[in-house]
Amino acid sequence: MALYADLHRHLGGSVVPRILWRYFQRHDDHLAQRFPKYNEFEEFYTRERSSLDEYLELHTLVESVQTAKTLPYFIYRLIRGAYIFENLAYLELRYTPYYRTAEHLSEFERIEQMAEIVEIVGKASQVKEYPMITSQILCMHTRLPYQVNKAIVDLAASRPDYVCAIDVAGGDSHLAQRLDEFVSLYKYARSLGIKTTGHLFETTNGCYPELLPYLMRIGHGIQIPLKYPELLKEVAQLQQCLEICPTTYFKTGTLEEISQLKIVFDRCFEAGVDIAICTDNAGLHNVRLPFEYENLLTQDVIDFAQLESCQDAAFRHAFAWPYQQRPASLLTGLLKETYPDEQLVNSH
Ligand SMILES: [Zn+2]
Repeated sequence: MALYADLHRHLGGSVVPRILWRYFQRHDDHLAQRFPKYNEFEEFYTRERSSLDEYLELHTLVESVQTAKTLPYFIYRLIRGAYIFENLAYLELRYTPYYRTAEHLSEFERIEQMAEIVEIVGKASQVKEYPMITSQILCMHTRLPYQVNKAIVDLAASRPDYVCAIDVAGGDSHLAQRLDEFVSLYKYARSLGIKTTGHLFETTNGCYPELLPYLMRIGHGIQIPLKYPELLKEVAQLQQCLEICPTTYFKTGTLEEISQLKIVFDRCFEAGVDIAICTDNAGLHNVRLPFEYENLLTQDVIDFAQLESCQDAAFRHAFAWPYQQRPASLLTGLLKETYPDEQLVNSH
């Protein structure tokens, strides 16, 4: 039995449209009136956007309803879905804690409240009926000022029980104006022993090799094999894993053809760069992890052996997976004990 790991999933984009729409109907008059019919909402929510920036705007719709009070409601449903429909044994959930704090508070008070949010997300992710190992990645944001991003790094360092790493979100093209600042934040994070990933080399406007040495994994990174294959050698040497989220690139208009994704996988395999296949925004896309796997197979982007090596890589590069092996090998031993080989032969 195969169980999976998802290393790149946003808390905001992980709410499936049905859950979000039902929440509006039950709890939010204004949004319920804006989207009276489910089908229309699903169409609006999941349709392709023309750019990454336009696509990221949708996150603000979800962020506005994910507050300290409502987060347990959404996270319970997220964990339930991931357990029942996606066979996840491991999930790293990422978000910008500042954007879950109360908007009417001052910046100082919002920074203070971030710790409470991390605690709420951590507790809500532990659901007794749907056991899986979860951890949080706190995202700095390209729209937030330095002091807030630094507070996010400090918070990550102070809660290793709930937080495994930091990231930077908000659209990779916006890193340009403040590159030195983010380099120094990542340096600072590494000096505190915090693990790192970052949305980088996702679009052609987000290619900043200056940040690469500070990352242990790369959020997307598809432009490296596509446009800068000469960097792959260094990526392989640093053992950085690419978090590839296939559906995203077509929703954001970053890629047009599935054949481009084949180049990404082929060049990485050839260079010895690990890839973890992830969902990014499983709810927003309405595509769950096993379907990402299946799509890549049916569209001939990868074969079964390559899929398995990506699934292995996901557990190997997971920041908070506590075992040496992926769970499949543990379970296989268990199943073999229950059904010894001879019985299996005899039953055929
Ligand atoms: Zn992402």
